[in-house]
Amino acid sequence: MNSQKYTLTIGWLYPNLMSTYGDRGNVITIQRRSQWRGFDVTIVPLDQAATAEDIKSVDIIVGGGAQDRQQELVMRDLQGAKAEAMREKLDNGTPGVFTCGSPQLLGHYYEPSVGKRIEGLGILDLVSVHPGENTKRCIGNLVIEVTAKKLARDLEEMIGMKPYLVGFENHGGRTQLGKTEALGKVVYGLGNNGEDGTEGAFYQNAIATYSHGPLLPKNPFVADWLIQTALRLKYQQPIQLTPLIDDLEMKAREAMLKRLKLDVAT
Ligand code: GLN
Repeated sequence: MNSQKYTLTIGWLYPNLMSTYGDRGNVITIQRRSQWRGFDVTIVPLDQAATAEDIKSVDIIVGGGAQDRQQELVMRDLQGAKAEAMREKLDNGTPGVFTCGSPQLLGHYYEPSVGKRIEGLGILDLVSVHPGENTKRCIGNLVIEVTAKKLARDLEEMIGMKPYLVGFENHGGRTQLGKTEALGKVVYGLGNNGEDGTEGAFYQNAIATYSHGPLLPKNPFVADWLIQTALRLKYQQPIQLTPLIDDLEMKAREAMLKRLKLDVAT
C-alpha cells in the first residue's frame, strides 16, 4: 500500500427506518476496518433529507432490513432523481451490501402480507412476496456458500478456502430471482424462498442477502472485499489492504459451523 491517504464515504440507506434488525453493524464494520488501516471515513445518511447528489457522492452503500411499513415509507421517498442515482451507482459497480428489506426494494416489487404491492427500483431482476400472516416466517441460522462467480473467486483468493458465509435470517417475504445471479446456495437455513436453494443476489458489485448477523462482523473478509473494491474504483488502481487480526471472528465462524454440524469451511 502506498502512503497516500485514502478516503471512503459510506452511504447508509435510511438509518432511521431501516435499522430494525441490527444491520448497522455492517456500517460500523466497514468504518472501523477502514479506520484501522488509516483511511478517513465519512458516513452519509441516504435518507429523506438526502439528495440525488448525496447518493452519487458515496463510495459504498449499505442498506439494512426493515419492517413492511417502513419499507413502504422508504419506497415513497426513493423516487425520481434519487432512484436514478441509485441505479446509476449500482450499474456502474459501486459496491454495497443490502440486507433483507433492502434487496426487496432493489427488486421489481415487494408484496406485503397486508396492504398493497410496494413497487421497487427494478435494479435487481427479482420479486418478493409475503405469502400471508398465517405462514411461517423464515427465522434461524443461515449458512451459505457463495456461488456468484466473480465474488466467489475473489473471496476464495482472500481466505484460501471455499467462501462460506454465516449469519441469521428473519423474513416473511419469499424472493424469486429472475436473471440476476444468486449470491450463493443455502447450506443451512431457508434463503430466498426455502424452495430453490438460492440465497441472495449479486449484481455488479452489490451484495444482496437475507443474512443478518450482522453479516460483515461475522464474515470480515466480505467487508474487506467491499473496501478494496470501493478503493479500486475510486482511485483507479489496485489497492492491497493491510491484513488485520481476525482470529476471534474466524473462531466464532468455526464455532457456529461446528454447532450446526457443518464441517464445511474448516
Ligand atoms: N419486511 C420484510 C420481510 O418480512 C423484510 C424483513 C427484514 O428486513 N428482516 O420479508
